[in-house]
Amino acid sequence: MAAFEPKKIVTAAGRKIGFEIQCSECPRTDTVPSPSHKGTNPNDAASRMFSNRGWRVGSSHKKHLCPDCLSRKPKLALVETHQPQEPVTVSVQPKPEAPASLDLDTAFIIAARLDDVFDGKRYSQGLDDQLVARDLGVPRDWVRQVRHKRFGVTTEEPEELKQLRGEMTATFKKLENLEIRLGDLLKGLSVLKSDFQQTKDQANKFDERIKKIHDAVK
Ligand SMILES: [Zn+2]
Repeated sequence: MAAFEPKKIVTAAGRKIGFEIQCSECPRTDTVPSPSHKGTNPNDAASRMFSNRGWRVGSSHKKHLCPDCLSRKPKLALVETHQPQEPVTVSVQPKPEAPASLDLDTAFIIAARLDDVFDGKRYSQGLDDQLVARDLGVPRDWVRQVRHKRFGVTTEEPEELKQLRGEMTATFKKLENLEIRLGDLLKGLSVLKSDFQQTKDQANKFDERIKKIHDAVK
């Protein structure tokens, strides 16, 4: 794989070290952030990132091709430009519309990016899976996979769950209102109870007075 020069690049998260590739046939350039994880060969990772974005990564700086120039070349011509000692694998770069499965290096790059813009619960800077995926030149599903592995499933509640949560909130609100009304009823009930007791006491006193009158008459 060709070596890319480390270069300061600007991403949505700010300036960081990355790698730049330049097309050998037109002025087009592209950059990717370098993986922060130790043990990842930054150049290999960068090659994969560029390949996933549709670049043809050549064996030297003079052989890189941007996706546009690459699509203009017949496939046969590409193979013929290879030098004999070039490993054959370079000519079978996966096309962006049919990406290879998520490899470890790319996962590390996505994880490093998520560490910058995802606080464990939500994205900062108005980002989402889609925007991060576009920024890194990887499928959105890869970003979702890495985010779930690294942080657990924290965002993007299913619509059904959101609706259920809304219904639950309404139900609890109703319950709260009923509780307040029940409290009022109980207060009213205790007033009634004390009225009842007073009236009963009074009735008892009538009884006593009637009894006394009876006794006096005897
Ligand atoms: Zn080009």
